[in-house]
Amino acid sequence: MSKNKKQDDMNKEFLKWLEEEDPLGLDDEITTIIFKCMDCGKEDEVPDFVVDEFQFDLKDNEEVEVVCLFCEGTMRRAKNSPK
Ligand SMILES: [Zn+2]
Repeated sequence: MSKNKKQDDMNKEFLKWLEEEDPLGLDDEITTIIFKCMDCGKEDEVPDFVVDEFQFDLKDNEEVEVVCLFCEGTMRRAKNSPK
């Protein structure tokens, strides 16, 4: 009896943990990094996990570049971007 009770408590704990955890990060506020187009000067916000993915393939001295949505030019991280 007491054993089953314990098991039950553990299940409840686990379910509670599942509710509190957010495996997909959907509830997290997304951190964005501002990119600025070198061609048209427009700015765009890129989620930081996307930038990380781009960064993964780069050497230390290379900057992440994304294609501008507006003119298909090259966007780079804005200098005044926090972080
Ligand atoms: Zn552009």
